Amino acid sequence: MSNEELSRDEKLVRAVQEKYHNMLEQGVDPYEWAYAWRSEINRGGFKAVDFLMREIVDTGKCVGCAACVTICPTDVFDYKDERPVDTRNDACVFCELCADVCPVLRPLDKDLNALLGFKKPVLDEGFGPYNYAVIARSKDQEVLKRGQDGGVTSALLVHALDKGTIKGAVLGDVLPENPQVGVQKLATTPEEILACSGSRYTYSPNTVALIEAMRKDIRPIAVVGVPCQVDGIRQQQYSSIRLEVAKWYQKNVTLVIGLFCSESFTHEHIKYIAETLNVEPKDIVNVNVKGKVIINLRDGREIIMKLKDFHQFARPACLYCLDYSAEHADIGVGGIGLDGWTLVAVRTEAGHKAFQAAVDDGLFEIVPVETEPRAKELLIKLCDIKRNKPLPALMPTLQERIKMGNTNPKTLYKDYNPTNGGKASK
Ligand SMILES: Cc1cc2nc3c(=O)[nH]c(=O)nc-3n(C[C@H](O)[C@H](O)[C@H](O)COP(=O)(O)OP(=O)(O)OC[C@H]3O[C@@H](n4cnc5c(N)ncnc54)[C@H](O)[C@@H]3O)c2cc1C
Ligand code: SF4
Ligand code: SF4
Repeated sequence: MSNEELSRDEKLVRAVQEKYHNMLEQGVDPYEWAYAWRSEINRGGFKAVDFLMREIVDTGKCVGCAACVTICPTDVFDYKDERPVDTRNDACVFCELCADVCPVLRPLDKDLNALLGFKKPVLDEGFGPYNYAVIARSKDQEVLKRGQDGGVTSALLVHALDKGTIKGAVLGDVLPENPQVGVQKLATTPEEILACSGSRYTYSPNTVALIEAMRKDIRPIAVVGVPCQVDGIRQQQYSSIRLEVAKWYQKNVTLVIGLFCSESFTHEHIKYIAETLNVEPKDIVNVNVKGKVIINLRDGREIIMKLKDFHQFARPACLYCLDYSAEHADIGVGGIGLDGWTLVAVRTEAGHKAFQAAVDDGLFEIVPVETEPRAKELLIKLCDIKRNKPLPALMPTLQERIKMGNTNPKTLYKDYNPTNGGKASK
């Protein structure tokens, strides 16, 4: 089709794509990339959904955070198989919000950290801005038993709900027939929060439940998510373009708890466990990773499998994620090799308020983080591995990785050295 025959919408999308790619190729400051589409906002008529689908979803670079889905004021997207689907593409009102909130298209705005309200003094030792860190576990035996590590996340949420500081929490629940598959959940009772405890290593679309929270006007709310989801939330709250929907998130998402995350696994890992152990997926009650993979089965058995056998199941999209420790959360949490305890990094004033209120009410057993120096060392090392990669826009697409013969997010940049031409290993 000649350029003259293209619709005005299509011409504009192609023009923005060209501008964006020119910026990438010419080494323009990444914080300027958003002007490729933001410059169109005043002219009007730029269909950002088409741009987003082509640049991020069709290239396999979408991490699945659902920010585009939950920000869209006209409900253009469905969410299926860890991806947005532009089912109602024609409903697009050219607001550009979906492109603006995508954490893969560009780095988060430079002024974000100033807006998040980090608690002072702000420390930075290589796992994101924070004020203090402790190792904690719930004193409530039921919460501790259900929790993935020390149950701190669930205990904090139940406490906030009891105190009325939140009215609900956006979490991940599980499918009864396959408890390692996560589904979004808007929890509004302590029982619902506790039913969501534990970790699923498949990608759980927690943040899709924000739509339900907004529709039912349940607020204020807390959100629990892996770092890509935390970034998606922050983009929705604080991205430069302002609309009512962004203000809703800013005002009503009052606590964001981010889970440390190297990568999630594809659904194939459940099949692998089931076949290796000769059990049904429904009988795999819990999976935990502590340098080895610990599997708890419904019949009470605990089975240890080798972590290296699970590397093949690392989700390819996780390559495009540079954040291990949920650097933009109010509180970052992880098990980080500890047995039955959660490492808690309190980052913002909001995080401190929630955590301190629970501490004051005697919810936790707490030990100083210094008692486990290896946990902090490991945390810094794992952050470093993820940070030391090019920005996703400068990485190969999934199709290119398939041609290179490497779709594993853990190995492509294993030998990457940004100071030395930055060659990725095949
Ligand atoms: C995919 C994944 C990878 C992780 N990788 C690491 C790691 O490399 N190192 C590390 O130290 N910690 C990692 N964690 C975090 C760790 O497993 C615990 O979630 C964390 O220590 C909090 O424990 P807790 O007992 O306080 O949480 P709990 O009280 O058990 O609460 C856990 C919360 O996580 C939510 N949740 C469960 N599965 C998911 C999911 N797939 N996506 C989003 N939310 C979910 C639940 O809804 C629940 O609210 C990972 C978690 C996930 C989900
Ligand atoms: S990474 Fe998030 S915002 Fe970007 S396309 Fe995927 S789901 Fe949408
Ligand atoms: S590694 Fe990143 S993209 Fe993958 S699930 Fe974790 S936070 Fe999301």
